[in-house]
Amino acid sequence: MKLKLKTSPSETVETQDELVKRIPQDSIAVNEIFYSIQGEGRHAGVPMVFVRLNVCHVGCKFCDTKYTWQTISHNKFYDSNSLLEAIKKLSLRCPHVCITGGEPLEQAEVLYKICKHLSANRLKVHLETSGSMLIPKEFDEVCHWIVCSPKKFFPPNFEAPIDEVKVLVTANQDLSKVRNFISKFRNKVWVSIQPIEPDPPVFGNPDGLTEPELIAYWDDVKEIRVREETIWLANRQKALDICKSTGWMLSPQMHKYFNIR
Ligand code: SF4
Repeated sequence: MKLKLKTSPSETVETQDELVKRIPQDSIAVNEIFYSIQGEGRHAGVPMVFVRLNVCHVGCKFCDTKYTWQTISHNKFYDSNSLLEAIKKLSLRCPHVCITGGEPLEQAEVLYKICKHLSANRLKVHLETSGSMLIPKEFDEVCHWIVCSPKKFFPPNFEAPIDEVKVLVTANQDLSKVRNFISKFRNKVWVSIQPIEPDPPVFGNPDGLTEPELIAYWDDVKEIRVREETIWLANRQKALDICKSTGWMLSPQMHKYFNIR
């Protein structure tokens, strides 16, 4: 699969498959590392170091981390020791590290070794995966918390026990497959319900328009905003209804309201 994204002219772009060939032995390709607060799910509000990996072949339309598909000149490779060092540099006190993506399990073999090293150094490793690739059973030994947010591939592919299932919800969604899947866990999995929030629309610059064009422009802006708001309200209502009827937890994306990553 060749996903080439637009970047600024100064950046070198390569396909994901080209990047994968370039990853040194015993290393993983990391898009970014930062210290923040978990914004969603069971651990919402908990400070964590986030390690966002490159590479995902799933290609969801609504993906809000499409930049992890692109592989640009400044992406970095870490082995067990250099990653541990980078995490400690960001926070000496924080015991939680969240491995996210992209799809982290695209780099499962080396990632397992790295997670083992991190957990041996008393870090609590949280793994966020789409379930599009097998979650190998040995990840249970090295992860404190495994969150699966199934996207295009359902049911998710797993051997290691999943701790949390994050379900993205739209107003028209049929949840019967999700319910059947969750029922297999006999209440031993945490379910987080997350209404999908439409991306804020991006408008062009109205400078230089004539008066009639400007009126038409603002009419369009208004119409699009009303449409987006209607979708968002409907998704939210559906999420509330689901939570009230199932006892599952509502999980809004808190980081968006606090304007943090
Ligand atoms: S699985 Fe996740 S990272 Fe991959 S495309 Fe979908 S939303 Fe984006």
